[in-house]
Amino acid sequence: SLVSGDSIRRKFLEFYASRGHKVLPSSSLVPDDPTVLLTIAGMLQFKPIFLGKAPRQVPRATTAQRCIRTNDVENVGRTARHHTFFEMLGNFSFGDYFKREAINWAWELTTKEFALPPERLWISVFEDDDEAFSIWHNEVGIPVERIKRMGEDDNFWTSGVTGPCGPCSEIYYDFYPERGYSNADLGDDNRFIEFYNLVFMQYNKKDDGSLEPLTQMNIDTGLGLERVARILQKVPNNYETDLIYPIIERAAELAMVSYAEADDLTKTSLKVIGDHIRAVVYLISDGVVPSNVGRGYVVRRLIRKVIRTGRLLGISGDGKGNVDGAVLPAIAERVIELSDEIDSNVKSRASRIYEELKREELRFVQTLERGEKLLEQLISSALLSARDNGTRPCLSGKDAFVLYDTFGFPIEITREVAEEQGVNVDMGAFDIEMEQQRNQSQAARAVVKLAVGNASEITEGVPDTEFLGYDTLYSRAVIEG
Ligand code: ATP
Ligand code: MG
Ligand code: MG
Ligand code: MG
Repeated sequence: SLVSGDSIRRKFLEFYASRGHKVLPSSSLVPDDPTVLLTIAGMLQFKPIFLGKAPRQVPRATTAQRCIRTNDVENVGRTARHHTFFEMLGNFSFGDYFKREAINWAWELTTKEFALPPERLWISVFEDDDEAFSIWHNEVGIPVERIKRMGEDDNFWTSGVTGPCGPCSEIYYDFYPERGYSNADLGDDNRFIEFYNLVFMQYNKKDDGSLEPLTQMNIDTGLGLERVARILQKVPNNYETDLIYPIIERAAELAMVSYAEADDLTKTSLKVIGDHIRAVVYLISDGVVPSNVGRGYVVRRLIRKVIRTGRLLGISGDGKGNVDGAVLPAIAERVIELSDEIDSNVKSRASRIYEELKREELRFVQTLERGEKLLEQLISSALLSARDNGTRPCLSGKDAFVLYDTFGFPIEITREVAEEQGVNVDMGAFDIEMEQQRNQSQAARAVVKLAVGNASEITEGVPDTEFLGYDTLYSRAVIEG
């Protein structure tokens, strides 16, 4: 490709290094912070400095931070821009420079280094931030038509329920400038993509929700590497950039399909695999082990999703003619090959990562296979009783639900296998069972619902979760992810 993801990362860090920023390493995905489950942004490693609880080592820093956002899991493959794992490039000021420099440098970086056409760039500012508006308009020269004032949801950034926060200003890229200025909506993700967020960090949000001014003005920014790669590489979505596409190609090979010729559903499945396996590899590399609680449960859910999605695509075996071989390591291999400039430690941890993946995969596949046996029995007895009664063979919604809930057996597979043998599945009744269970497990799910904003709720909630066994937890994972 024209501009590699690696070169974008390097350009960003060099740009800020040459403006007095110290290049610091990404911190672990497991934060040194009890209020957050996983690292969701570049600012996390600097939180104590922003809060004035730790002295700054340098006035300015820049990083390429690996991040996980489980709250975006439902968006994966559905939007062109969201991942669970992504890299956030950031420049930070600890009581040093503020809005003026942050804005002017962000503009110089995007229009000179990345050479994005200025007329395609749109700006958002917090609704009453006249200062930022004026810098963008009067100093940078952006016409007022391309600066939108937006509310708290988009333009007031908080790192969690509590913690450092402030108004922000974002840069968006316009894929269709010919559509003009009237009725332009930055939230329209067919037309626009947000790629750079500048946070003017000047408050600490307290437990009671009130904002306490910090003793110094800080800058915290985040630029989505995969999103900029998508723009510069001129591909239709982040997944087709050189940062992720090779992983998708490996999955497609194993499924014996061609991504380019695949239908949308298959493409989405391949994107889900490409995304989740990246998250899983980096989480395990950072020391997270699949389990039923907290971070371990995140990894477990992501792994299961990859396996189920892979099986639906017909992936079985490792592509080396070994049908019983684990699939995950074969796909993870690509993630590890691409890891050098994301995290130079990953390659040395490869064998541990493969072991962990293999163990978890075998365990889960056994569960699925137990379900397959039961399904065969249920189909036989449905056929028998249909013959005896002279009715159409049908698998009850209750049975399909037991398979799903107790054995973690995907309903799509139940239907497919049953229909192959001339047996219908009572989906109406199945949906009713699902609905009932959904209502019952509302409270339990709240605990594992992982959001950027309420990580503390999770870390507190998880240890209290009653462990009802592998199967019950599994069914919960299926419902959510
Ligand atoms: P969006 O509105 O698109 O969900 P955001 O406003 O939640 O993004 P920020 O919290 O402002 O994102 O994060 C800073 C930058 O990190 C974003 O401008 C974007 O480039 C990138 N980013 C955020 N979330 C994701 C994600 N799930 N996948 C890939 N990149 C992301
Ligand atoms: Mg978001
Ligand atoms: Mg946003
Ligand atoms: Mg944003």
